[in-house]
Amino acid sequence: TTSYSPRPILALPDHLISQIAAGEVVERPSAVVKELLENALDAGATNITVRLEEGGVKRIAIIDNGRGIPADQLPLAMQRHATSKISSLEELENVATLGFRGEALASISSVAVLSLTTRTADAPHAWQIENGKVTPASGAQGTTVDVQDLYYNTPARRKFLKSEQTEFGHCAEVVRRIALARPDVSFSLSHNGKIVDHWNISAIDKRSATILGEGFAAARLPIDESAGPLRLHGFIGLPTASKGRADSQYFYVNGRFVRDKLLTHAVRAAYQDVLHGDRYPSYVIALDLDPALVDVNVHPSKIEVRFRDSRAVHQFVFHAVNRALAQTSATAFGTVPG
Ligand code: ADP
Ligand code: MG
Repeated sequence: TTSYSPRPILALPDHLISQIAAGEVVERPSAVVKELLENALDAGATNITVRLEEGGVKRIAIIDNGRGIPADQLPLAMQRHATSKISSLEELENVATLGFRGEALASISSVAVLSLTTRTADAPHAWQIENGKVTPASGAQGTTVDVQDLYYNTPARRKFLKSEQTEFGHCAEVVRRIALARPDVSFSLSHNGKIVDHWNISAIDKRSATILGEGFAAARLPIDESAGPLRLHGFIGLPTASKGRADSQYFYVNGRFVRDKLLTHAVRAAYQDVLHGDRYPSYVIALDLDPALVDVNVHPSKIEVRFRDSRAVHQFVFHAVNRALAQTSATAFGTVPG
């Protein structure tokens, strides 16, 4: 006879909780790169070096010159749901930093070998934490996070990774996205010991020209419009800078790269009269607004956002892009823009 005996309910051990969370937060090497770059920027870094080996699977090292972490807080930094960025619901609703969930370091260290070396401005030397142990170390002000052997302990996950070149490509794209948003920070990216990209601190027009290419630089319109709490600024590509793939579309909300249906649709609609249906516009545009008007806590990787008044945002973006495009097409056909 079979008797039905339900399995008991057990609280999951902390390590397993982190590994489950890691599935959402760091689903591939590029997600680790994104989280660590965001931490460096939140720490006020002006110089960031990214070193990858074997597509990031073997190693991801990110070196920043930011504020660093005080030694006595190092164990906390590695803990799940521990953050210096928010401490109340009110702060969550007004969050201006890129991070706030306090999950990245804990998640990453549950699926990789992580060591973090850091030094604050007033510390006599650096400190390192690895496996929960804090020891004195050497190093300049800032933080170095060294992540090795990603998913060594979760082989099922490791099997889902693509080729080294593909994973590296995703990592490089993440660096480009962030570098486009922060021309006031210098970045360098290397893969397997070779420097792949290096961007000095510059203005946005120069940074976007180096990242998106001279073709874009030669066929772009500056845009800068404000309405109430909304400001849209950056560059939109002319139809001649459009592409057969949607791979040169960079939209930022309060400095955060997003891929948002509403925003993509608004831009697309604005191009409708000047672009064939099978062409994709190129653009680098930033929407800035009061953080209280947008919810960034919709998705663990924060790539989607939700606006308090999505209709107003859609209309604003549509009209701003549409007006800029309409003026040039009027000029191109010899009519005076009205
Ligand atoms: P979150 O960024 O959401 O706070 P993380 O797990 O990414 O969570 O980081 C935990 C904490 O560790 C941060 O709140 C921050 O105080 C500290 N930290 C992480 N990375 C850095 C860094 N590169 N420089 C300075 N502090 C850092
Ligand atoms: Mg973070």
